[in-house]
Amino acid sequence: MTEIIGASLAGSAAALELLRLGEPVTLIEKSKFPRHKVCGEFLDAAAVKLLKDVPLEGTPITESALIWENASKRFSLPVAALGISRYRLDEVLLQAALSRGAVLREEAAKPHAKAIVAHGRKPLSQRGQRLFGYKAHFKGPFNHAVELYFKGVGYTGINPIEDGMTNVCGIAREEDLKAAGFDGDEFLSRQPHVAARLQGLRRKMDWLFTGPLFYGPTEATIGYPCGDALSFVDPFTGSGMLCAVATGQLAARSVVEGFSSEQHIAACRKMLLPAFRWSTLLRKSLTWPGVPSLAKLVPGEILYKQSRPWNFSIIHS
Ligand SMILES: Cc1cc2nc3c(=O)[nH]c(=O)nc-3n(C[C@H](O)[C@H](O)[C@H](O)COP(=O)(O)OP(=O)(O)OC[C@H]3O[C@@H](n4cnc5c(N)ncnc54)[C@H](O)[C@@H]3O)c2cc1C
Repeated sequence: MTEIIGASLAGSAAALELLRLGEPVTLIEKSKFPRHKVCGEFLDAAAVKLLKDVPLEGTPITESALIWENASKRFSLPVAALGISRYRLDEVLLQAALSRGAVLREEAAKPHAKAIVAHGRKPLSQRGQRLFGYKAHFKGPFNHAVELYFKGVGYTGINPIEDGMTNVCGIAREEDLKAAGFDGDEFLSRQPHVAARLQGLRRKMDWLFTGPLFYGPTEATIGYPCGDALSFVDPFTGSGMLCAVATGQLAARSVVEGFSSEQHIAACRKMLLPAFRWSTLLRKSLTWPGVPSLAKLVPGEILYKQSRPWNFSIIHS
């Protein structure tokens, strides 16, 4: 019986893969599902494909818009992504795993050498400035685009999810959120482009915050880590959930095929590193003066494709 610590995306994806391979699974989750979670809720088409045997109902996202104070860029996504809340997605995946035979223990557990570790981000020793994520759902007119409004190292993402709802989620410096009293409405009212976009939308839940967020690989790993427990990159490319699903499935195969934890981590690196390096560079360059105007010249499809892993049939070496 393989234990999986954390039953969110990476954990449920690992459980479903283990069950598909005929292995019994115990999922250990400290939170009661369904629950809201700070996330842009933009699910990459490749993640939908990896989860193809679980029906997912959300809203297709067919376009992307990158918006700076003095420039903007719009392009069609090469394949439609799915807007779906974590409230719905995490619950659907967990229920799929349970209906296929997984056992659930609702408690906090400590990672151990034989476990699949899918417990999400853990605080890293502090480095650099403190960033926080925020999110709330809104109701009102919606479109099929993911819109990213950039402001320095921060940004606000707006995209449709299920049932005619729109998710508003972003990342900001702690001092900027503090200056607005950690009030999402007040914070966004200070950004004219975003404030104009939100006119006519009504907020349907309290603002949620998470942080501090630090980017990079996890410092101490044990067992078979996957998802954010392995590494956390600036999520502006909307590929964190894809990485969670892909590395969750890879962790399941690593366990079944008898690979060591080190071999598993090396295989994950091989899968993720090229896209992570590109995303980090792209994110940094988008804060440099003049680059937003230059970004207009690069085909959106190239920016999009380079920022996400594409080879999921990675083999261990
Ligand atoms: C602001 C922001 C916006 C984002 N936007 C997007 C986006 O639009 N698209 C995208 O693809 N990605 C996005 N991401 C990234 C995405 O949210 C993560 O990559 C994804 O949630 C990782 O999934 P996970 O299963 O690894 O971890 P999590 O989703 O964090 O799940 C970990 C689970 O483990 C449980 N747990 C923790 N500790 C224990 C314990 N000791 N015992 C038992 N259970 C435990 C938790 O309760 C939780 O349910 C965003 C992230 C942020 C911060």
